[in-house]
Amino acid sequence: MSDSRHGQPPGSQPPSDHSVQDLLRELFPETHRELFGERHPGRPPTLGLYPVADGRLALVHGDQLAEFTPVSPRGASALHCDLCHHTRSRSEAQLYRVRVGERRTRYLTLCAPTAPCQGRAGPRALASLADRIFPIEPVYND
Ligand SMILES: [Zn+2]
Repeated sequence: MSDSRHGQPPGSQPPSDHSVQDLLRELFPETHRELFGERHPGRPPTLGLYPVADGRLALVHGDQLAEFTPVSPRGASALHCDLCHHTRSRSEAQLYRVRVGERRTRYLTLCAPTAPCQGRAGPRALASLADRIFPIEPVYND
């Protein structure tokens, strides 16, 4: 350890005030990103539902993505939101189809708009919704 760092008189610091992770970040930022990611400690991976084009929703969880396509529900009964678990009238919720595999499709009912619904439901409900969708089987067109 050199004691010639700027602004610090020799001997005022313990010789190893750097963890291996700190050293890695300073010397090899690329490696550090690979090993520890860009995330800040304690922050969960990206998780959320985002409105995209044509009334669809995108469910994003880390690097996974599922697309929710709006479909018309049959019948005239009230809808039950699968995220915040409120009962909604037909005009307050939307039924979505999600393709989770080559021959597997899920249907989900969600409030419209989605932002206050996610606020009511909270991150834990959103995480359990994501658990029902992911992982999505890759679909091959051959
Ligand atoms: Zn809801």
